[in-house]
Amino acid sequence: MINKLLSHIDYKTLFNSLGQGIVYIDHSGLIAFQNKAAEQMFAAVPSFRTGESVYHQPWHLFTKRDEPLANNDFPAIAVLKTHRSVSNAILKIALPERQPIWLDVNADPVAAENSPGIAGVILTLVDLTETMTEKQRLRSSEEKYRRFFLSNKSATFLATKEGQYLDVGLGAETLFGYTVDELKTIGRDRIIVQDENFEKAVKQRNERGSVVAEVEGRRKDGSVFPMLWHANLFTTSAGEELVSVVMIDLTEKAELEKQAERSKYNLDLVLKNTDYAFAIVDRQLRFVTFNNAYRRTIETLYNQRIDENACLLDLFAAAQKEKVEKTFAEVFAGSQKLFTDAATEGEAEVYYETTLQPLKEGSRVIGAYISRRNVTQIVAAIKKTQDLQFSLDLVMENSEDGIAVLDANYVVQSVNEPFNKTMQLVHGRKVVPGDCLMDFINSNRKPFLEETFKEVLRGEKKELTFETTNGRGEPMVYLSALLPLCKDGHAVGIFILSKDVTAAFLANREAAAVKARLERAATASYDIISERNLKTGAVKRNEAFREVLGYNESDFAQPAEAELHLIHPDDRQAVTTAIAEQMAAGHFIVKLPVYRVQHRDGHCVYVDTRMMVTRDESGEPYLLTTVASDVTEFLQLQRSLVEANEALQRQTEDLKRSNTELERFAYVASHDLQEPLRMVSSFLSLIKKRYNSLLDDTGRQYIHFATDGALRMKALIQDLLQFSRIGTDKGNKEPVDTAKLVNGLLDEFVFTVSEKGAKISVKPLPVVLAVKSNLTHVFQNLLSNALKYATHPEIEIGAEEEEEEWRFYVKDNGIGIDAKFFEKIFVLFQQLHTKNEYSGTGIGLAIVKKIIDQSGGRIWVESAVGQGSTFFFTVPKSETNNP
Ligand code: ADP
Repeated sequence: MINKLLSHIDYKTLFNSLGQGIVYIDHSGLIAFQNKAAEQMFAAVPSFRTGESVYHQPWHLFTKRDEPLANNDFPAIAVLKTHRSVSNAILKIALPERQPIWLDVNADPVAAENSPGIAGVILTLVDLTETMTEKQRLRSSEEKYRRFFLSNKSATFLATKEGQYLDVGLGAETLFGYTVDELKTIGRDRIIVQDENFEKAVKQRNERGSVVAEVEGRRKDGSVFPMLWHANLFTTSAGEELVSVVMIDLTEKAELEKQAERSKYNLDLVLKNTDYAFAIVDRQLRFVTFNNAYRRTIETLYNQRIDENACLLDLFAAAQKEKVEKTFAEVFAGSQKLFTDAATEGEAEVYYETTLQPLKEGSRVIGAYISRRNVTQIVAAIKKTQDLQFSLDLVMENSEDGIAVLDANYVVQSVNEPFNKTMQLVHGRKVVPGDCLMDFINSNRKPFLEETFKEVLRGEKKELTFETTNGRGEPMVYLSALLPLCKDGHAVGIFILSKDVTAAFLANREAAAVKARLERAATASYDIISERNLKTGAVKRNEAFREVLGYNESDFAQPAEAELHLIHPDDRQAVTTAIAEQMAAGHFIVKLPVYRVQHRDGHCVYVDTRMMVTRDESGEPYLLTTVASDVTEFLQLQRSLVEANEALQRQTEDLKRSNTELERFAYVASHDLQEPLRMVSSFLSLIKKRYNSLLDDTGRQYIHFATDGALRMKALIQDLLQFSRIGTDKGNKEPVDTAKLVNGLLDEFVFTVSEKGAKISVKPLPVVLAVKSNLTHVFQNLLSNALKYATHPEIEIGAEEEEEEWRFYVKDNGIGIDAKFFEKIFVLFQQLHTKNEYSGTGIGLAIVKKIIDQSGGRIWVESAVGQGSTFFFTVPKSETNNP
């Protein structure tokens, strides 16, 4: 039928004139046609257009009772599937971001002309959106009222228009305090305050047939309370006009409203005055409200003024608008946004943090709540902490000291290498961020440390010394400072700074030991030691002070003055001047002349004193250490030595003088004696020659004695002369071949040798540096003695080389010498025998000794009586040793 219709009239005009919506959908589901009314109904569904498919619609379908339906249950699709009509399906089409559409749908198949299937579906639609929305609203208000009615605070009445109660619900008793019967008797005038307000409500009821008004009720006890008066006029089947009344206690509501009013007022006050900026925009981004702070932020951020009704979008440049709209679209879709803007305010940079939140009424987003706060300080603080964080890292990386940062649960947040070096040494492993430091602590130490950590977290600073040993058992000492890390005034962690003070600690301990040793040494010292603090005047003295000077500590009433007064008055000035001068010159050690100190018993003690000046950092002397040695005995000894030396010197000079005199005398004597002796000898030989025949035997014997005496005297004088000459005539040194010299001498002695049958052996002899005539004398004398004092002489002459000298010897097998005469034989005129036993003058060995002494050598004898004698003498090799 419709096909016919369609083919014969201008169906479009027809359909468009209909108030109902008409949609034709072909067999494939394509929307082939819709009239104006349908277009309007589906205005909110852009995809529901001619040419689009009915299968792909973005909507959600619900039944009248809000039960969800599958999209395939949309009547058009159902008919395409079943070929059966659907009538009066009431549907809710829910669309994203849009108000739902309510439709009353009839769907009928359109039969295909040449095939058994259908050509399409025709939908007839009635728009129920407005009706259904209204209904829903009603339903929700009904709901509200139903809650009022059901509450036991409501009272129900059936009354006459004049206010006489015909029937009263039980709730009224609770509300007013009267019984139902009392209420029926007393009527409304007693339980409703008859004021202007009530009269107005009654008037309204009479005019409109119904009223809901807030009036004041009065209880039996006289108290007045706000209540809702809901009156409905109605006519009974008997034609009587009656009123149904519900009265509800609004005390609570009024209270709530008052509260709401108050809080609203408060809120307004707060919002208007707070620095916390806020604004509300509706979905069209028009401002609903904003506070002063918000307005200020707009001025700062966008350099614009706003007033109510302004649109947020107008604040933005065209290019930004799209972005803003997009952002708000997301907010309206339910998400929250947070972003920070930077702007300059004068010179300074300011930061605002903006929060956008959807503003909902029920589940519907009706706008957005914008709040904004100035986070400049926070940003600055964050930047600062970032800087600080940076510098902390830098500090930690570069510090030689161990650093660790713990949170409030002692969990390591960061730690540096030196800290871990210690951990490695002490605990054998490192800590890494995330470790709990307590896990590293020995259980016996844990309680103490935990207590300490807690104190730090309470805001205290702590310093701990850890004494421990490393893996090799060597001592390790750490000084740790524990500081609370605070945030907003609360300790949120612990900062640990750990310093290896082992070296200092050991040095300290060593220094203390050294100090103790020094103190012991000072106490035990024989030196008088005192230490004076120049700032405090305090003086310390050692034991020697008492022992050497006899004073006790108690003898010094004024310790600083005392020592000066001990100095002998004659020395005092010199000492004080020396101290003052050397201290002023900046000397560290002050040397003093030896001075006298008075012993407690009055005698003087000489002291040799040094003072050590210890200066502070500014160079000011503050400690004076005095060390004084008692040199009294030493000085006495020195004095007696000097005296002895002087005496010796005098003696030596006397001796020298007398020696010289003696030598001169010996020379003069022997020289001058020669002449008279020669005369005596000449005349004796003349007497013997001329008068020998005239003399008897006795006379001849006397002359023999006289001649003999003169001969001996001659020998004596010659020897003496020779002796005395040795001192005066030193002669020149020259290399002397001693072997040649000795062999020459043996020629001279050839007569004696053969007479005595002497055996002489000459060992190899060296060439030495000597005065040849002197050395000849020496050998001559020793050789002649060796021949003289032996009966059958066996003589050995030799030399032995020493490092610095030659040692010669002349060994015989003669009578020998008693040890007690070893010295005597070298003295002038000393003879061990009478001239009758052995000839000689007793000068020979004295001459030999004098020669050897003068040449820097030594002479001695080794012998025993009857065992022969060996005479030794030395000749120095080098000339320097010669005098
Ligand atoms: P004299 O001219 O008497 O020998 P000397 O000065 O040569 O004087 O010697 C002193 C004394 O030393 C000698 O009188 C002798 O008693 C003793 N004397 C010296 N040489 C020997 C010797 N080879 N054997 C024993 N006695 C000796």
